[in-house]
Amino acid sequence: MAALLLKNGRVIDPASDHDGVADVWIEDGIIKGVGPGLSPAGAEIFDATGLVVAPGFIDMHVHLREPGFEHAETIETGARAAAAGGFTSICPMPNTAPVNDSVTVTTYIVERARRHAVVNVFPIGAITKGSQGDELAAIGSMKQAGAVAISDDGRPVMNARLMRRAMEFARSFGMPVINHCEDLHLSAGGDMHEGAESVRLGLRGIPACSEDVMVARDILLAEVTGARYHVAHISSRHSVEMVAFAKLKDLTVTSEATPHHLTLADTDIIPYDSNYKMKPPLRSTRDVNCVVEGVVSGAIDAIATDHAPHSGSDKMQEFEKCPFGIIGLETALGLALEHLVHGKKISLTRLVELFTINPARMLGIGRGTLTPGAPADVTVFSTDRKWTYDVNQSFSKSRNSPFDGTSFRGGPVATIVSGKIVWRLEQ
Ligand SMILES: [Zn+2]
Repeated sequence: MAALLLKNGRVIDPASDHDGVADVWIEDGIIKGVGPGLSPAGAEIFDATGLVVAPGFIDMHVHLREPGFEHAETIETGARAAAAGGFTSICPMPNTAPVNDSVTVTTYIVERARRHAVVNVFPIGAITKGSQGDELAAIGSMKQAGAVAISDDGRPVMNARLMRRAMEFARSFGMPVINHCEDLHLSAGGDMHEGAESVRLGLRGIPACSEDVMVARDILLAEVTGARYHVAHISSRHSVEMVAFAKLKDLTVTSEATPHHLTLADTDIIPYDSNYKMKPPLRSTRDVNCVVEGVVSGAIDAIATDHAPHSGSDKMQEFEKCPFGIIGLETALGLALEHLVHGKKISLTRLVELFTINPARMLGIGRGTLTPGAPADVTVFSTDRKWTYDVNQSFSKSRNSPFDGTSFRGGPVATIVSGKIVWRLEQ
């Protein structure tokens, strides 16, 4: 494969503590060198002047809907949306049909991705068979087939005894356990965050405590088992505080936040617009501020989109009837730049860390850095280009986004996977 030289970009690689203008030399799908004034013979030149050159972004929480719901998304279309969002690796959750709870389904996803996905796909296997919460899934064999973590995401593991056993198994296989924290008895029937807004809109509430009690339980189980435990889409004040506490105690507890939970509160909901319906729900302004604070302090380790495509006909129902979730791959970087970096909450280096080396380390996938010898996954982005998101131009098969028409300052410019440019902004 021909060489590619990314010239004169601001290279930010938190894993190697690099932040400065340099060239990045890519050849044979790997990073060959990073430094000033590189000029490998015959290399294609990519002028990155004025742009940031970062390790390829990793989204550890997406839903690709294949197998089973290909009308909403496929591995191919989801991967294209990921590339257009600057992501070089994505981790699909197992709530497909059939559920990814066996070596057969894991292998199917890996094979489909190998043939049809423009980005790396690292599947997450189910914790329990069919994600039904009754019996453990085939964790060890899914790992051998390529699963990088286990989760019943979309549903919590309600049975604490089963969660404890799952953590013990996962620990022996060296896999993280990711939980969708929601006590179903406390959240039952709810459509949005429980508070003054739900009362005002006459919608049933999902209380913050439905998340908090499960985060508390899981942290205690993580301590008992020594498992690597990760909170998916953290959204409440107490959950963030408890994860911070677990870290103080040196437990291997981590968490992720979605761009929407970092930027929108329940007061931002356009009444009865299903593009504002997701789980966890958009919470109070106080919760949003605490999630942002968690990103600043380190209680939150990664930004993950929870990209959840639903077809138009599914989402075009009454608020109470429509499914939970929004798409998010193409707006994640724009939102993070706008609210966190331009909003002066975190540095650009911290932003890159949240999207790269942190998820790579949690998942143990050996990516997220531009160190020579690493796979040449690179995200090139701008911090000042003005653009407006048009959901009808999305590479996703679905259109369920509350950010349609939102204007951004900065976003992805090129996405490089194993040395190949898989998406590039049209000039
Ligand atoms: Zn979830």
